[in-house]
Amino acid sequence: MIRKELLAAVASEVTVCTKCLLWKTRRNAVPGEGSAKSKIMLIGEAPGRSEDAQGRPFVGAASKFLDELLSEISVSREDVFITNVVKCRPPGNRAPKSLEVQTCTPYLDRQMRIIKPKIIVALGNCATSCVFSKAKLSFSSITQAHGKLQGATILGKKVTVSPMFHPATVLYNPKYKTVLRQDFQSLKDEVERTTQSKKG
Ligand code: URA
Ligand code: SF4
Repeated sequence: MIRKELLAAVASEVTVCTKCLLWKTRRNAVPGEGSAKSKIMLIGEAPGRSEDAQGRPFVGAASKFLDELLSEISVSREDVFITNVVKCRPPGNRAPKSLEVQTCTPYLDRQMRIIKPKIIVALGNCATSCVFSKAKLSFSSITQAHGKLQGATILGKKVTVSPMFHPATVLYNPKYKTVLRQDFQSLKDEVERTTQSKKG
């Protein structure tokens, strides 16, 4: 209950945030959504057009495939918490600038401290670079890192980081479907181990 309220407080601050210039062009900020007591947190890059229109994460073109990937490992969206590195849409879906990431990242940190996930799934280059940097892990590229589970400490808590190609990658190159499916399968065992543990 408490966690839910704390997350709602973060969300209401995000909704009216003007800390970086992205607030000027957004329609809706996208704080993130899902289970407050989830052991799994999924982190994307930034809202796209549909997310900006609806104020919800991963509801656009890439989201159907993400839902498929989750269902293939028997995880439903309600079981996870989904958010982004940057909570407002960069104009034209450009990549977030490092100052924007830096300015917005305290919201993500607060969400992580509240949820205390055991597994963090980083979707794409931007999210992986951001999460690796919080974990003080060196990062070269998502091409190198994808599919390899990494033990890490983030904000003083032990977590497993699972870097993935961004699900939107398949929209312009379908060959990534197979890679993403394989990488999600390697996540499956870890998810089962973690969600079955009683320690919480
Ligand atoms: N891409 C992202 O990284 N996040 C979203 O919420 C939607 C598309
Ligand atoms: Fe605030 Fe983050 Fe939106 Fe920038 S992107 S205005 S820091 S919520």
